[in-house]
Amino acid sequence: MVTPTKSAQLKTPLILLIIFFVLIIVVNILCFFYFENQKDHIKKEKQNELMAIADLKVDQIVNWRNERLADLSAILDNPLIVSQLYHWLRDPKANRQKEEILTWMKSLHGHSRYERVIIINSEQSIQLLMPEGQDILGPNDKRLISESMKSGRMIFSDLYSSKFAKATRLSLVAPIALPGQNSGIADGAFLMRIDPYAFLYPLIQSWPTPSRTAETTLVRREGNEVVFLNELRHLSDTALTLRYPLEEKDLIASMAARGVDGVVEGIDYRGIRVLAAIKPVPESTWIVIAKVDAEEVYAPIRERFWIVLIIGGVLIVAAGAGVGLVWRNQQAQGYRKQYEGELEKLALIRHFEYLTRYANDIIVMTDKYGRIMEANEKAVASYGYSRDELLQTNISDLQAHDTLEDYELQMKRLEGIMANGLVFETVHRRKDGTTFPVEVSAREIKIEGTVFFQSIIRDISERKQSEAKLSLAMEELTRSNEELEKFAYVASHDLQEPLRMVSSFVQLLEKRYKGNLDQDADDFINYAVDGANRMQVLITDLLAYSRVGRRGKEFKETACEAALDRALSNLQAVVEQSGAVVTRDPLPEVMGDGSQLTQLFQNLIGNAIKFCKDRTPSIHISAERKKNEWVFSVRDNGIGIAPEYLERIFSIFQRLHGRQEYQGTGIGLAICRKVVERHGGRIWVESDTGSGSTFYFTIPAQMEIKS
Ligand code: ADP
Repeated sequence: MVTPTKSAQLKTPLILLIIFFVLIIVVNILCFFYFENQKDHIKKEKQNELMAIADLKVDQIVNWRNERLADLSAILDNPLIVSQLYHWLRDPKANRQKEEILTWMKSLHGHSRYERVIIINSEQSIQLLMPEGQDILGPNDKRLISESMKSGRMIFSDLYSSKFAKATRLSLVAPIALPGQNSGIADGAFLMRIDPYAFLYPLIQSWPTPSRTAETTLVRREGNEVVFLNELRHLSDTALTLRYPLEEKDLIASMAARGVDGVVEGIDYRGIRVLAAIKPVPESTWIVIAKVDAEEVYAPIRERFWIVLIIGGVLIVAAGAGVGLVWRNQQAQGYRKQYEGELEKLALIRHFEYLTRYANDIIVMTDKYGRIMEANEKAVASYGYSRDELLQTNISDLQAHDTLEDYELQMKRLEGIMANGLVFETVHRRKDGTTFPVEVSAREIKIEGTVFFQSIIRDISERKQSEAKLSLAMEELTRSNEELEKFAYVASHDLQEPLRMVSSFVQLLEKRYKGNLDQDADDFINYAVDGANRMQVLITDLLAYSRVGRRGKEFKETACEAALDRALSNLQAVVEQSGAVVTRDPLPEVMGDGSQLTQLFQNLIGNAIKFCKDRTPSIHISAERKKNEWVFSVRDNGIGIAPEYLERIFSIFQRLHGRQEYQGTGIGLAICRKVVERHGGRIWVESDTGSGSTFYFTIPAQMEIKS
């Protein structure tokens, strides 16, 4: 079970936080682009609307003007009316004609919203007017009339202010001439006054959609000025009086007068920022401006801005909530994992507690002052204290009195040793005062940052007893060996003297009485001499054997090559006599007794030459390193040894052949074994009858000092 690590726990909120911030950025970007898109859309819509309205107004003005011209044309194209007018102007007393003229003038005034319809004679004086009343032809009127009469064309005047009527007006003038007459000779003129307030201004001012600030204005350029031609929504008495210089850069009216066309943004006559569509009216000096306050245009944009802001906010809150939910979920999962981990740990601890409690060793846990914090069942059983008593005991109280110093030393050594711990032997004391030897395996451990010491204590009474028994037996063995050796030495040494005496007297007997007595006596003397000689050899051998242990020199670095050389030189006569071929591999240096190693090689090579029968002996000596020892071998091509005798031949005086066959006493290999064992090695032979033998022995290798 893996519990989430601290870094993993930290990582999760960080990732979630990053996701959250990325979401915020994404939401912001989306909102920004959506808002920009909406803004463009609304602005474009408004611009299109303004342009459409400006177009509509221009169309309406053009239509209205064409209608007026059509009105006039309808009269002038009617020959009956023209003829009536013509004749009446020549004879103003013709009442019948006057009546008829007044009738259609009335209808014209009534239906077509003309302020006044006037008939003027060739002298430019008013002849008839409808409705009747006071009227004077102003200089503007007169100029128009004479121009019209001269050109014979209809003239639609521009807006002008009449000083006489103190009003803003438009006039429509047409000459009165009989069809077929030369143009330029008119008998009078028609003058129709139009009050712009009656129809034109309302037409201009009307706005097809509901709007708080929208309005259409009509302007024209007059020299270096722009003049407002109509009454304004937000200012009164402006027609032909409100003027601005053309240089007013941001003023929409000035822009229009300067010839700017289309949708523009600038300020209006109130100095307020507006969006406007400018469109000139064809065949006139008029320019239509359809405008609306920027504030009204941007109001829906602002509204959208707030909506987008709220949506963005809601999205961010939702993202935050989502991220928070994921975090909580993960945390809950983490806690669950941790809980499961704790459960598993608890089970493990219980299992461990069980193991500890019933362990075969004493296990105690102490704090750094040596106070016992925990102890297992085995501790209770071993020390004779109850568990509660143990938990109030210091581990030093468990030490045998004479080992207290020992204990303090160990505790000091133990400080800071955590990895491998410390193993030492000491003596512990039971509640009843009895003591027992123990092996303590102690180590420092840290639990939740606090230092404790854990000791595994093994009662080694039995081991100590058997160790004591063993060392007693060893002592005994050594003593008896030494005694045996001593005996062999004493026996062989002390026997030599009487033996020599027996031998020399027997030899004296032989010398003096050989041939003087009978044959039997001679034979007996011979047996006695032979026996005495053999006995001497045996005793010499036994002495040599006993000397291996007693007279051995101290070990020192010895070159085996040199030992072998000495052995071969001792054997030189035998080697030459037998024609033996001795070969060898390089031999190592060992710690040993040089003369004993010489004897070892000498005995083995001597045997190899001796037990060869008729063949020329071929002997090979080598050494091979195996782990911590050198394995030497002496291989021959001799008669070999039957498997059942492979062990026996190393015992003292054990021989496999009669003296007549091969000379010897059976002490050589026994000496070899003793030498090898004294050097800490083993000796054995591998052989079979007739197939040669290989004698092996080992000598411990010198420890190499590794750099
Ligand atoms: P000795 O040579 O005096 O007989 P050893 O202790 O040297 O006594 O040898 C004991 C016996 O082991 C020998 O009598 C011989 O039978 C046998 N033996 C020793 N070396 C060899 C060998 N190289 N080949 C065959 N037999 C051997």
